[in-house]
Amino acid sequence: MKHVYTTNSSDETEALAAEIAPSLQGKIILLQGNLGAGKTTFVRGVARGLGIKGRVVSPTFAYEKIYGKGKKVVRHFDLYRISDNEDSLLEEELHELFSHTTDTILIEWPERLAIRPQTISGREVLSVTIEHAGEDTRIIDIQNENSEILTTEQIKEFYARYHTPFHVTQHCLTVANFAVKIANLLSRNGYKIDTDLVRQAALLHDIVRYVDFKNFDPDTWKFDYSTEDLHYWIEMRKKHAGRHHAAVGAEILHAHGFPKTAKIVAKHDFLSIETGFESWEEKVLYYADKRAKHDSIVPLHERLEDGRQRNAPHLLNTENSHALDEKVFALEKEIFHAIGMLL
Ligand code: ADP
Ligand code: MG
Repeated sequence: MKHVYTTNSSDETEALAAEIAPSLQGKIILLQGNLGAGKTTFVRGVARGLGIKGRVVSPTFAYEKIYGKGKKVVRHFDLYRISDNEDSLLEEELHELFSHTTDTILIEWPERLAIRPQTISGREVLSVTIEHAGEDTRIIDIQNENSEILTTEQIKEFYARYHTPFHVTQHCLTVANFAVKIANLLSRNGYKIDTDLVRQAALLHDIVRYVDFKNFDPDTWKFDYSTEDLHYWIEMRKKHAGRHHAAVGAEILHAHGFPKTAKIVAKHDFLSIETGFESWEEKVLYYADKRAKHDSIVPLHERLEDGRQRNAPHLLNTENSHALDEKVFALEKEIFHAIGMLL
């Protein structure tokens, strides 16, 4: 559902919320907007629309207020005053709550939470964004939030937060562009693939690539980095020593509330070819990554050899490595076949 409404008074906002309340029942609704935008007014409308009597005011002392009975329970959270240490406790409670109740849940200031409620499976999450548009006019934008797709800005925030080295971001971009081309061809041929999700997984697949760089020698990198970057990389390498960057990256994305992206990212490590893939998104990210040498697209055999020299020199030209390569070539064949470029 995506709808934009305009109201010109708090009564109109309440009436609008009451009118659409039946379609909001049982959902998790994230209310965003400045103080005085009309979030609480909206909750009041939803409660009234579901036939709940009683006064709705912002929960000031508690974070939660409960209205109604039986099937028509409305749980109203206002997280405006939440502090960091309460945050993680409340997060756990919300996790619990979201997965066990079918009550209608309305949350003011959901952005104060570190988790994204949209990740809790099985519950539909809507975001209601209320914007001041002069005097008593408000623009109310209601949107389905179940997609995981981030904006370019948010992707950049991820790179900044995890200190993704510049050359790695360039590699991610190369993989993303190539993967999207393949995904588009696949969808055109009737295959079920989410191109946006492929792009996002590609852009984030190597977000913490540095955790298992075989040669970690930033001095030789051709771009500037700060001492803060360096310290972060060293810390992360210590913390995740012995793990594959795909697994660490997936874990991070999962923790941020991007389970679908995480699952695809988890499968881009070279050895996933052994266990196989569960979706076209996974296949396409894997394959596109195996065609991108740094920031250029090269033939598969060239990249496989380069990867092996950098990551597993002891496996060069062994029987096992040939067997694995055969499987990657078979994946290439499968993809080419599907996009109509018969090999
Ligand atoms: P929030 O919970 O977002 O802080 P409230 O719902 O508590 O906001 O308060 C909204 C305030 O804005 C109320 O004082 C209300 O009278 C006023 N207001 C003016 N125009 C509108 C409108 N179109 N919709 C909602 N509230 C409005
Ligand atoms: Mg409020």
